[in-house]
Amino acid sequence: MPAYPRLFTPLKLAHLTLPNRILMGSMHTGLEAMKDGPGRLAAFFAERARGGVALIVTGAFSPNVAGCLGPWRETMMDAEDRDRHRAIPQAVHDAGGRILLQLLHGGRYSKNPKLVAPSPIKAPINPLSPRELTSAEVEQTIEDFARGALLAKEAGYDGVEIMGSEGYLINQFLCLRTNQRTDEWGGALENRMRFATGIVRRVRERCGSDFILQYRISVLDLVEGGLSGDEILQLARAIESAGADLLNSGVGWHEARIPTIAHSVPRGGFAWATRRLKEVVTIPVIASNRINAPELAEDILARGDADMVSLARPMLADPDFANKAKAGDRLGINICFGCNQACLDEIFDLRVASCVVNPRACHETELVYRAAQAKKRIAVVGGGPAGLSFAAVAAERGHAVTLYEKSTELGGQFNLARRIPGKQEFGESVAYFAERLRRAGVTVALNHVANDAELKDYDEVVLASGIAPRTPAIPGVEHKKVAGYVDVLSGRVSVGERVVILGAGGIGFDVALYLLERNGKVQVDAQAFSSHWGIVSDAKSAGGLAVEQPHDANPAHRITMLKRSATPFGSTLGKTTGWVHRIELARARVEMLRGVEYRKIDDAGVHIALEGKERVIPADTVVLCTGQDPLRTLASHLEAHGKKPHLIGGAREAGELDAMRAMREGAELAAGI
Ligand code: FAD
Ligand code: SF4
Repeated sequence: MPAYPRLFTPLKLAHLTLPNRILMGSMHTGLEAMKDGPGRLAAFFAERARGGVALIVTGAFSPNVAGCLGPWRETMMDAEDRDRHRAIPQAVHDAGGRILLQLLHGGRYSKNPKLVAPSPIKAPINPLSPRELTSAEVEQTIEDFARGALLAKEAGYDGVEIMGSEGYLINQFLCLRTNQRTDEWGGALENRMRFATGIVRRVRERCGSDFILQYRISVLDLVEGGLSGDEILQLARAIESAGADLLNSGVGWHEARIPTIAHSVPRGGFAWATRRLKEVVTIPVIASNRINAPELAEDILARGDADMVSLARPMLADPDFANKAKAGDRLGINICFGCNQACLDEIFDLRVASCVVNPRACHETELVYRAAQAKKRIAVVGGGPAGLSFAAVAAERGHAVTLYEKSTELGGQFNLARRIPGKQEFGESVAYFAERLRRAGVTVALNHVANDAELKDYDEVVLASGIAPRTPAIPGVEHKKVAGYVDVLSGRVSVGERVVILGAGGIGFDVALYLLERNGKVQVDAQAFSSHWGIVSDAKSAGGLAVEQPHDANPAHRITMLKRSATPFGSTLGKTTGWVHRIELARARVEMLRGVEYRKIDDAGVHIALEGKERVIPADTVVLCTGQDPLRTLASHLEAHGKKPHLIGGAREAGELDAMRAMREGAELAAGI
């Protein structure tokens, strides 16, 4: 009996049968412009096809120039595009997979000066204002979608996904929020749906029945003026009638102020919204968002919420997810913990995406792990993300690796991070790497402080010993009410009601969230999440939003965050997750003061100067989140023995440290050693 029987039940579509129920959802990777040709994208998708996923969807390609999301041409609009793409479906087919091209028109989200929309209403997340499409241009845009689909077919794709969710152009036509037209494309829902159904119908007519037509429908808009539950079902029926083969789910417009994929969203937390569709259409429906483990996917299918599941970021974390799940190898799956750091945040900064826990993602042609030519004896000091990443790759390449870790468990700071609400799954990553090390034959010495004498005889020594938290030179910092973030997060100190946090980097924000929400269920329970964020499942509420937005009546602590620099609070947090943190802390009325000079800490609290005025912030507990320094005393000792160690992660550089850099440095060093 397979471990996940429903997940591996074939799915019959119109003209073909998919081998399992796993879709690799669309992700923009930053490679879509194909500046150096299609090779990197082809390698990226082929690796996932070999990994056993049933169906892949590419990142976004626009059917015309106005719909391009970014400054580059990422289109499927002419013979040149078609010919450039050919290598991608070819590589996927050679690897035994199937692939759809996603056609997406950005509408008012496009960051190009030619942006257009149903009505000239600027998006809150785009500085550019759109021009209103004329009625003839709306017709032409439908034609552009049909042309793009046909070109995709000619290029060798198995079908297309029409992107109708996340607030892009098709969504903009559907909702009164963005469509205030008075012609045949605006007004009643029947008119607003005409653009979406027109595209589906025209694509079907143009491409025939031997071509998969998947439509991504917004199952919850999560914005004011979005569609109600009833209207979404009406749309789903209309899309099916127009000729779609599959309905994929999208959740929330990009401008929604509710998290939809970040780690603050419970796993599988939106599958209920897909279930509503399943009850009214006969074509297969696909659940999406925060589905990152096979048992979760199996449960969604077993509950009847969906016929298939879409995993996007989990396919960055582990290209072999499907094959491993099929083999029942749950421990061997590298789990995506929803941080967005190396994927979405990088894309928003116009860089190529990757994955914190798998630095090879989107770099398949550059970061290659080949068998080592000469086997070396290598010592790794530190079992945090940097050391784990290095040890796994180096041992898999054939080196004899010994890893020393001074604490009783592997994971380093991930063992603190996983205590933060929403970051529990960092623990999954530690478990995965521990297993990977075991399989690769790494000798792990826990509870072992490595010293230079035992290290000096190795062929190579890698210092991944991390950081030491910094204690600022503030008079009174030794006061008994002062604690470090490690003590607070480890539960070693009890924290009073009035808390002052010194420092407002990622750890400062995390400590505040930990104190406020550590006993809650918001990040792990879909119902608690919905009531926390004001999401309702009734048939009538526009956008799926409660009329009255929730607020926190009695936060567990009264928190003040202080920082020396005058930069805005939260500016160092992730682009796609930092705003969630900021909303949470604002709701709990956390006071934030910047440009502060610390005077002293005493029984009364923290004495500061702010804009020339002296002030005392009363505190029962003061938490230090005031930076970190590299921990690498062993380096100089080893150098005294004539041995130069390699430094990675926090041991190399503590400033702006994150796990993305730590793991990447580990993997890159291991690939070449
Ligand atoms: P560490 O994780 O510090 O690991 C170093 C290891 O070396 C430790 O286990 C230590 O015990 C061991 N060691 C030290 N000296 C010796 C010795 N002599 N012998 C043997 N062992 C030794 N990063 C993100 O990217 N995203 C996040 O969301 C995030 N959230 C965080 C939340 C919190 C609360 C904290 C504390 C950190 C967070 N981080 C996050 C930071 C991330 O965890 C670090 O960037 C990462 O752990 C650094 O990895 P490292 O391997 O360099 O160091
Ligand atoms: Fe998942 Fe984070 Fe990797 Fe993105 S970077 S795929 S969110 S683990």
